[in-house]
Amino acid sequence: MKIGILGGGQLARMLALAGYPLGQTFSVLDPGVNVCSAAVAEQLQGDYVDQKLLAQLAEQTDVVSYEFENVPATAVAFLAGKVPVYPPQLALATAQDRLKEKTLFRELGINTPAFAAVNSLEELAQAMPQIGWPAVIKTRSEGYDGKGQAVLHQADDLASAWQALAGVPALVEAFVPFEREFSIIAVRGTTGEVVCYPLTENTHRNGTLRLSIARPGDAMQARAVEYAERILGRLNYVGVLTLELFQAGDSLLANEFAPRVHNSGHWTQDGAITCQFENHLRAISGLPLGATDTIGHAAMVNLIGDIPAIETVLANRHAHLHLYGKTERPGRKVGHINICAPSEQQMKVELGLLLALVDS
Ligand code: AMP
Repeated sequence: MKIGILGGGQLARMLALAGYPLGQTFSVLDPGVNVCSAAVAEQLQGDYVDQKLLAQLAEQTDVVSYEFENVPATAVAFLAGKVPVYPPQLALATAQDRLKEKTLFRELGINTPAFAAVNSLEELAQAMPQIGWPAVIKTRSEGYDGKGQAVLHQADDLASAWQALAGVPALVEAFVPFEREFSIIAVRGTTGEVVCYPLTENTHRNGTLRLSIARPGDAMQARAVEYAERILGRLNYVGVLTLELFQAGDSLLANEFAPRVHNSGHWTQDGAITCQFENHLRAISGLPLGATDTIGHAAMVNLIGDIPAIETVLANRHAHLHLYGKTERPGRKVGHINICAPSEQQMKVELGLLLALVDS
């Protein structure tokens, strides 16, 4: 089976690496040169909305997926007329607009922070009494890794925040004083079969994911699964979906979802029976899904900007290095390290050493 992917970054690369053992081959569409997936997938080089290239991709492949949610909706609509595209267009359109996304959560009875759509500074000021302080303003579309958002503490902040967003349609929502941030990686197959991984606890630095720890057996698991299942069912979803959550006391609030494999699920490559990449491919290819149980105690540390000495990383027998074939540059995700240890205690110790190494 040949799989097409819109985007040739590290997620496409890791999808291809997981798909070869299943007998799959890959073709990506990406405008870039020296893309991460180059060594493992054919590339059609050009714009995502180039209909000639999209038609060629559809012709060459049996099913198409995408590795980022800002892929133009028109490209996916065009492809969907020629070849199955998963996750479905409705999921992409919902994830591309924070208002649609939060409205879906509300309709499905999924707890989410109070929110309001705002299209002008006046509307923002009018919404504040209902939202309360502090609040977060976010662009409705094209925000990622904390970009396109600001925290509002007082009435004086409104005008400058609105200006910084350049007046684009936005969403203002209550600031959640969360204790923990989680994500749940859920997978739905073409038959409606659903499997979920154990919750992942995530820590960000400067808006970018730094650390993920698998939390099998967490008390919030059942509620997170229930949330994910509602979304998957409503969207008639196929593939991996990542739901990001805040835990504040007893409540679990949905922040957003990504219609794709996710950085917070990278630990599954070494810490789960079937990794998120393989399960995404199984789902979109109409194959049975694989078990999501953990193997040992797993965590993942992102390599942002620099790659430490490989020998030092691998001196830990429970560490697995995953490099993306990128050159080092400040702020750039260049790889990650998974730790998968036989006990929780050992994982914690090894993780501490690894974080010190990565920060040195
Ligand atoms: P997002 O782009 O929505 O994923 O937001 C990026 C990060 O900003 C999240 O991972 C949180 O750490 C933080 N954040 C976003 N929304 C809120 C909120 N309503 N309350 C508190 N922190 C938030």
